Amino acid sequence: MTEQIDVIVIGAGAAGLMCAATAAGRGRRVVVLDHARKPGRKILMSGGGRCNFTHLHSGPEHFLSANPRFCISALRRYPPAAFLELVERHGVAYEEREPGRLFCRESARPILDLLLSEGRQAGVELRMGTGVRSVQATAEGFAVATPTGTLHAEALVVATGGLSIPRMGASGLGYAIARQFGLPVQPTRPALVPLTLPEHLRRPIGDLAGISVPVRVRCAEAEFSDDLLITHHGLSGPAALQASSYWQPEVPLSLDWLPGVALHDELAEARRRRSKRALHRCLEAHLPRRLARVLCDLEGWSGPLQGFSNRGLEAVAQRLQEWRLTPAGTAGYAKAEVTAGGVDTDALSSRTLEAREVPGLHFVGEVVDVTGQLGGHNFQWAWSSGVAVGQAI
Ligand SMILES: Cc1cc2nc3c(=O)[nH]c(=O)nc-3n(C[C@H](O)[C@H](O)[C@H](O)COP(=O)(O)OP(=O)(O)OC[C@H]3O[C@@H](n4cnc5c(N)ncnc54)[C@H](O)[C@@H]3O)c2cc1C
Repeated sequence: MTEQIDVIVIGAGAAGLMCAATAAGRGRRVVVLDHARKPGRKILMSGGGRCNFTHLHSGPEHFLSANPRFCISALRRYPPAAFLELVERHGVAYEEREPGRLFCRESARPILDLLLSEGRQAGVELRMGTGVRSVQATAEGFAVATPTGTLHAEALVVATGGLSIPRMGASGLGYAIARQFGLPVQPTRPALVPLTLPEHLRRPIGDLAGISVPVRVRCAEAEFSDDLLITHHGLSGPAALQASSYWQPEVPLSLDWLPGVALHDELAEARRRRSKRALHRCLEAHLPRRLARVLCDLEGWSGPLQGFSNRGLEAVAQRLQEWRLTPAGTAGYAKAEVTAGGVDTDALSSRTLEAREVPGLHFVGEVVDVTGQLGGHNFQWAWSSGVAVGQAI
């Protein structure tokens, strides 16, 4: 069977659904194809089931990309306030958890329902459980072959997301389509992902699984102050996830275990007062007891504070506040919230996300080399890029 429509969208995730509803709202006949059985599964599992659907202050500084300015145009034309207006119009209950981070109050479901309802009203046709066999350029646009027939359209939107969480339908199809049409793809890697520990730290640190502490972590040019969660396998929690997006293999992270504490002054003062306490007991004022102990053991620090010279205390403070840790790796795509890298933005128009050399071929959402930090930025990119394309096709 052969069908002629206006727009084919591959991928019924956040970006594809938003793009489809926007284009159909302008009178275009849109079909969305997805090999998964249900649309928007990542939306439902996001934000711990509450979907952190935007960040009120989302801007280029919250994104990683070979061209960090690429996202500006789409974000400006469809900013967080525009999506919030849609959320409010649909009566979705939401709350601001940390400054700027908006979550659904009860469950992520209303965000998916909102997208499906906007699409339904505009006449979007969703074809779930429909894989893509091939994509070809034709004289009038594109032909997409599926097991049930071939669709022809003037415009093709690739909204297949990244490689993260393969069991949710992730695949490399979007990158393969880009390469097929000669577009460069920036190397992909798991991001917003737990970090694993090197062999020698696996036991001592892993035994502290469940402990969460506020830290400051520096990785390359990025710095984050947030909670670090120790797990059996390594480091997780927002601080580790944020740092992971910037981490490159074999490069150490710098961890401040006591952010904002004037540690040397404190230890020196305790020593002046002739405190008889051991160093790890002094650290317990700021750190969980077991963690303080393990850090001291790892560094070979034992005995009472009095046994340390002033120089020695300076070194202790510096070590604990610039603790260098080289992760063994990451927990991989199976645990990553997003995929960094993707379709090279140099090959796309920042206004329409159309391939410069292939008229009618557009890429939206996570498949593009635009990766948000934790905090609702990834969904905001999905909405903004989806609308930019939906208005252009
Ligand atoms: C556990 C988790 C929690 C998250 N929490 C948040 C959060 O709270 N806030 C936030 O901003 N971001 C969050 N994210 C990131 C966010 O979910 C993604 O950035 C966003 O979903 C990307 O949207 P997308 O439409 O580009 O891709 P996706 O949502 O991944 O959608 C891609 C779609 O394409 C389909 N597809 C893939 N390959 C094919 C193929 N070969 N043929 C047909 N269809 C295909 C898939 O089945 C899928 O439906 C989270 C991610 C995860 C994994």
